[in-house]
Amino acid sequence: MIAKQEITGLILAGGLGTRMGQVDKGMLTLHGQPLAAHVLQRLAPQVGQLALNLNQHAENYRHFGLPIWADEQADYRGPLAGLQSGLRRATTPYVLVVPCDSPLLPLDLAARLAAGLQEADADLAIAVTQEHEPARDATQLRPHPVFCLVKTSALPQLDAYLAEGGRKMSAWHGPLKLAQVLFEDGQAFRNINTREELAAVQAQDISVSMAQTLLNNAVAPLAEIEHLPLPQALERFLAADIISPISVPAHDNSAMDGYALHGSDLLGDAPITLRVMDTILAGRPGTAAIVRGTCARIMTGAVMPAGCDSVVPQELVLQASEHSITVAPQVVRPGDNRRFKGEDLMAGQPALLQGKLLRPAELGLLASLGIASVPVRRRLRVAFFSTGDELRSLGEPLDAGCIYDSNRYTLLGMLQRLGCEVLDLGIVKDSPEALEAALRLACAQADVIITSGGVSSGAADFTRDILAQLGEVAFWQINMRPGRPMAFGRIAVDGHSALLLGLPGNPVAVMATFYFLARPTLLRMMGADPEAASLPLLRVAAQAAIRKRRGRTEYQRGILERDASGQQHVRVTGAQGSGILRSMTQANCMIVLPAEQGPVAAGELVDIVLFQGLT
Ligand code: AMP
Ligand code: MG
Repeated sequence: MIAKQEITGLILAGGLGTRMGQVDKGMLTLHGQPLAAHVLQRLAPQVGQLALNLNQHAENYRHFGLPIWADEQADYRGPLAGLQSGLRRATTPYVLVVPCDSPLLPLDLAARLAAGLQEADADLAIAVTQEHEPARDATQLRPHPVFCLVKTSALPQLDAYLAEGGRKMSAWHGPLKLAQVLFEDGQAFRNINTREELAAVQAQDISVSMAQTLLNNAVAPLAEIEHLPLPQALERFLAADIISPISVPAHDNSAMDGYALHGSDLLGDAPITLRVMDTILAGRPGTAAIVRGTCARIMTGAVMPAGCDSVVPQELVLQASEHSITVAPQVVRPGDNRRFKGEDLMAGQPALLQGKLLRPAELGLLASLGIASVPVRRRLRVAFFSTGDELRSLGEPLDAGCIYDSNRYTLLGMLQRLGCEVLDLGIVKDSPEALEAALRLACAQADVIITSGGVSSGAADFTRDILAQLGEVAFWQINMRPGRPMAFGRIAVDGHSALLLGLPGNPVAVMATFYFLARPTLLRMMGADPEAASLPLLRVAAQAAIRKRRGRTEYQRGILERDASGQQHVRVTGAQGSGILRSMTQANCMIVLPAEQGPVAAGELVDIVLFQGLT
């Protein structure tokens, strides 16, 4: 098997982008991030090394932190020139090249090309897909030669081919052995060559995991740190590692009330009598020397006398008087009932790492180290408002055709539970002026703005215009239910910028997008470590069949129950419409059904996220 460490992934961005008017294609924005970043995200986990093939605009790519390998051929900017410098400069036995304008490339590209190359004992492997030709009603193989895995030993052949003036990606290998590896999804090899193609990919739904990655990449922990006394630090995130200033416990000490002694005194086979030299209480170290053949009465937590390594609990002693005890042989083993110095924590060791959520146990641990105040990230300020002419606030009469605004209360609750500072900006009418005024107000005061409504395709038009004026915001169709439309980006007013999360309007969609998209993003800004932000999934059997459409992620509201025989199973709450908020109040978990999943049969295992812990 070819290990991923043996492969250098080379992103080809050295072309001229001629068909788009000589643009730097890798920097074209898709879903709010450059094409090259999409390619890098998909390629990076598949290979051991990475490099970029570039001939200009190097400054645009520097932040990726990758080696930049320019073409060696001065006169020709095609992909083969990139491959050539890749084969020349890579230090691994294989190079995998991919174009910088293929944001959907397969996540198993390297693994499958490597398997195909090895199986055929080939020098290079390229991806092919099956294509239907309507004219002949036949299928034929379509090669994708720019997605290829090549042995670095193929370099002389490529050099010779280029020297003769050859320029064909599909023909350069000449006598070398080529393996064609069939991939099912033709879309995955889509190249963006024109603005229309970019717009077409932009209009496609993105997966939940892609949306999560894009969000994660777009934010960083807040820089501002505050020092808080422990009682105020509860539920905050540590902003620095805490190194233990002392050992806990500070001394070897007794785990029992009893007698401290030399364990080796008990190794014989007859009972032994030992003189009691001292009484040692917790917090009051002893004074007498305890040599072999003697012992000290000792209390739980009291410091072990020098040389003693074991404690015989008082209830195991055969006879005890003020001055001596008699113990059976081997009643304890050497080392028993002694706690070591530093058993909990050694001085100089990290006690808690930055990003840790300070829960009761962490406060206790900090106190045990004598630490009275800690550096934590400042609170995240989140402004939110609802949009919609049909919305009425509590206390207002409900005019015909109107509904009460529920999203603001759901959002308020979710944000407060997460530990954010909240700013409720009320209901905003569906008018460009009102929306702009609300966004300006929010942007001046908050780190993050969360809106609900106004982003579905019918409603999004003027929202889109306003957001485009105030900043850079991408509209996403996420392949999830509930919660398909969402806006995401950054806006700036008077030099102050804020992250914008435009959630859908339907009440359950607001909650689903909040928990699975907004929550991890906010937690990252709040300084949480990734572990604190991730939600544990439990696998349980579905009590009955669940309707599910293959091809999109669904979050269904579930009730986890235990039946009379103690078996746990989950069932859906009934109608799953994205407007049915009651389903959220009945549920105790979300059933997370991934895109690949089709209808669920009764008894099949499904993933759930418990509301406990989620909130
Ligand atoms: P929209 O995305 O604005 O088209 O909203 C989608 C649906 O969600 C519509 O039926 C709205 O009435 C409903 N909706 C939007 N905002 C809220 C809200 N704040 N509270 C309750 N329902 C809402
Ligand atoms: Mg609306």
